[in-house]
Amino acid sequence: MNNPFLALPYVPALESLGAEYYDEVTAAQFPQQILRFRNDDLLPRLGLDPAQVTDENFIQAFGQFAGRMPLLALRYHGYQFGEYNPRLGDGRGFLYGQVQGTDGELYDLGTKGSGTTPYSRSADGRLTLKGGIREVLAAEALQAQGVYTSRCLSLIETGEQLWRGDEPSPTRASVMVRFSRSHIRFGTFERFLYLERPDLTQKLLDHVIEQYYPHLQRESDRYALFYAELVQRVARLCAQWMAVGFCHGVLNTDNMSVTGESFDYGPYAFITHYDPTFTAAYFDHYRRYCFGNQPGICHLNLELLQRPLALVIPQAEMESGLADFAETYTRAYQARMLEKMGLPPEPSPQAEELCMSLLRWLEESKQDYHEFFVDLSENFSPAWFTDIDRIPDPTQPGPFLTLFMNWKTRYHQQLMKLSIPDRHLVPHRLKQNPTTVLVRPQIEAIWEAISQQDDWEPFYDLLNRLRAIVYAPLKL
Ligand code: AMP
Ligand code: MG
Repeated sequence: MNNPFLALPYVPALESLGAEYYDEVTAAQFPQQILRFRNDDLLPRLGLDPAQVTDENFIQAFGQFAGRMPLLALRYHGYQFGEYNPRLGDGRGFLYGQVQGTDGELYDLGTKGSGTTPYSRSADGRLTLKGGIREVLAAEALQAQGVYTSRCLSLIETGEQLWRGDEPSPTRASVMVRFSRSHIRFGTFERFLYLERPDLTQKLLDHVIEQYYPHLQRESDRYALFYAELVQRVARLCAQWMAVGFCHGVLNTDNMSVTGESFDYGPYAFITHYDPTFTAAYFDHYRRYCFGNQPGICHLNLELLQRPLALVIPQAEMESGLADFAETYTRAYQARMLEKMGLPPEPSPQAEELCMSLLRWLEESKQDYHEFFVDLSENFSPAWFTDIDRIPDPTQPGPFLTLFMNWKTRYHQQLMKLSIPDRHLVPHRLKQNPTTVLVRPQIEAIWEAISQQDDWEPFYDLLNRLRAIVYAPLKL
């Protein structure tokens, strides 16, 4: 079989840890395989030339699973909405394979919707087509906004009909392949505390450090350093989510990666206006994972992770690692918010007040969060540096003008203080605010075209628009 995906130099990194970490499973056979999305952006990282890879190659490898069985359903537990659940594990996904990328990093190809496993419980092991589309879009939107995220390598419609309580049913089915740094979760470690297996904890920790934190490998206190770095990575990830207005929706510990990468996009949503109570998952009745709770929940999940890691790492060292969460988070959040306002990402007490005044106005006025920054970009004039009156007031002033003026005064003060080179960068920074945001109406519109007319053009068009503005930190 001359399929470049089958000829990839797979490395059995996780498999070589032993059978305690997974179950061998086989994928379902699907009545149809229609390739709906292939992520050619990722192929060079696998050492492949997109022009040399056919749609048929994708279908054979990731719709028919030819030549790569059995695959691995990974074992894990997790805290779900605060309750410990020992009956988890890959219920509809497998680790398809691991590959060393051309950048030297190890990547997982993981499936979603590929059939049942010992962890499916009473569920069908499938992924709805809409769910697959939603994950493709979330990953590409977050990637374009500079968020450290898993991606989707392919999405194949499978011709099955699924019944779901939260979609008009029957609904269409798909199988997705996720391209991620790792599928090892906080919950993978939690399972070993439950099983009372410090030996398996240590083995997995050594593996995680070797593969994902190699710069720590030679340090005598590498375990504590790993935990401290994970805290930093998660704090920075969460800051990016908050600044781009992303609400993950289900921050259970089985959806948190030990690499600090964002992944597993279920009922997520991008906010439309700044509302800390906004809750993405309809089943999150107590707003546990609402937008504004994300930093607190990330902190809590890191704290919970100390319990299983305490089998190997001294508790006091982890506590001092966790103590840095708040400062790392705040600095990263402020830096990104400053950039969104066109300013250099240098946190300061004045910058903090500027951000707070902005959030207060955005929250009270319910002004569109994303439009606000695009308007700044479109209206920007160098006259703003000298004349505060040239910064336009909202078109519909409303009762919140005082809050707006409070922000505008502080904003103007920051603009006045900028060096000449920083002044030149203001329009460039402002232009990095996305003009297309993956808010729910966008997704519903493309899904309507697909479900009503099988028209995929709006989906591809939306993908292109989401990818059009790519965030990259600007340096002088
Ligand atoms: P999630 O909320 O998607 O992170 O999934 C939580 C757990 O439920 C994981 O163990 C999943 O593998 C499992 N799961 C979710 N949906 C399905 C399904 N349709 N069939 C089997 N298992 C599922
Ligand atoms: Mg999950």
